[in-house]
Amino acid sequence: MSENIIEVKNLTKIYKQGNVLAVDDVSFSIRKGEVFALLGPNGAGKTTTISILATILHPTSGVIKVNSHDVLKDPDKVRKSIGIVFQESAVDSEMTGWENLELHAILYGIPKKERKQKIKEVLKLVDLEDKANLYVKNYSGGMKRRLEIARGLIHEPKILFLDEPTLGLDPQTRRKIWEKIKELNQGPSHMTILITTHYMEEADELAHRICIMDKGKIIALDTSENLKKQISGDIIDIQFEKIKNPGILPKIISQLKQVEGIKNISLVDSSASKDFMQMNMNLPPGMKNINPQMIRARMQELMSDPKKLIKAWKKFPMASQMFLNAPLEAKKRIANLFTPDLIEQVPEPIKEIILKIQKDEYIEETSSKFEPKISISCENGSRQLPPLILKINDLHLQIKNINMHQPTLEDVFLHYTGSAIREETSTPTKEIKKFIQMRKLRK
Ligand code: ATP
Repeated sequence: MSENIIEVKNLTKIYKQGNVLAVDDVSFSIRKGEVFALLGPNGAGKTTTISILATILHPTSGVIKVNSHDVLKDPDKVRKSIGIVFQESAVDSEMTGWENLELHAILYGIPKKERKQKIKEVLKLVDLEDKANLYVKNYSGGMKRRLEIARGLIHEPKILFLDEPTLGLDPQTRRKIWEKIKELNQGPSHMTILITTHYMEEADELAHRICIMDKGKIIALDTSENLKKQISGDIIDIQFEKIKNPGILPKIISQLKQVEGIKNISLVDSSASKDFMQMNMNLPPGMKNINPQMIRARMQELMSDPKKLIKAWKKFPMASQMFLNAPLEAKKRIANLFTPDLIEQVPEPIKEIILKIQKDEYIEETSSKFEPKISISCENGSRQLPPLILKINDLHLQIKNINMHQPTLEDVFLHYTGSAIREETSTPTKEIKKFIQMRKLRK
């Protein structure tokens, strides 16, 4: 694993629309036969980087070589060297698995006499031989993703690019995909694999090396083991019972930091990211395999159209729940979309909330549910725990949960990115804001 198959030097990408610096002077190389993970929150620049390597986007500056070919000078040769599985589905649901692969084989110019054999081979690789003649619309999410991988492999690429390959899949299906990825890398072809993900355990499980990106920059790059070693000592996670005023958190954190032996304290936004992913699990049958990004896009459409919102609130309890759980700022924005005649059609208890917000009489109760979690990196957990608990008592705070462990990759992430990772990846409102921004930029 010594020869480099991908070399990226000083890659910068600025999206002209909106003047967004998506990738900021990034350099790294990937060795032949390596599984290399780009790990980072939404917006870190992972998809932009992989899209440039795949010749889909042009860099603003930098030199990028894939399988020794320059992405700008020899894009065709680069494309022949790589297989790509992107976040957005590229398979046609109205065709069978076999037909999808055949179409792709034709597009890649695979001679007719070789096609059948190649299709059989890739179907076998992803365990879909017995589903080949089934329409893709009848595939499960995991089967579809495996078919996409098969599609990316049909022209026998040297490198496989996987952009968030298990996004929105349930844990069991995710494991199956991981097994396939490992087989491809450890099998006779020793395929080089570049994977982007924001699942820490995915990077930990699969990658030889992990490159942590945040806000367009590389903030750490090493093996998972070495990254974890960088945070020596122990991690103590503490979840507090309800805190009425979240505004006092910075003060709590700075007080706890004074305890001897404490290296760092980060605020963990514990529930939100899971909530958002679980939306996918709570969907009605038949909708389960829809890409979460599509769901977010739908949600965004709803959030700016009061008539659609009324329909959704009446039909789907989840939509009402989302409104009730939304932060005050989001509630206010939605409430201001409603004219008096429309408010009449809004189901309770949302109607009452909207009326109160419009009259400036609404008092947010959700803050009373705030149960913050902090992650404390310290020199020696068993020594620092007693003074920490004493301090927490002095501050009149109640502990709900406490957990001490060795640093994980998640802690490494938190160490380098602070609380930003969770805020960025998780909160539905942020996702929605980002979506609005993106729509504006793309117009
Ligand atoms: P995700 O996990 O959400 O895909 P990412 O790490 O892949 O995130 P990118 O999609 O590469 O991040 O986005 C990096 C930044 O560039 C973000 O701020 C994003 O809003 C912005 N961006 C992405 N595509 C465009 C575009 N076509 N025009 C303008 N800005 C864009």
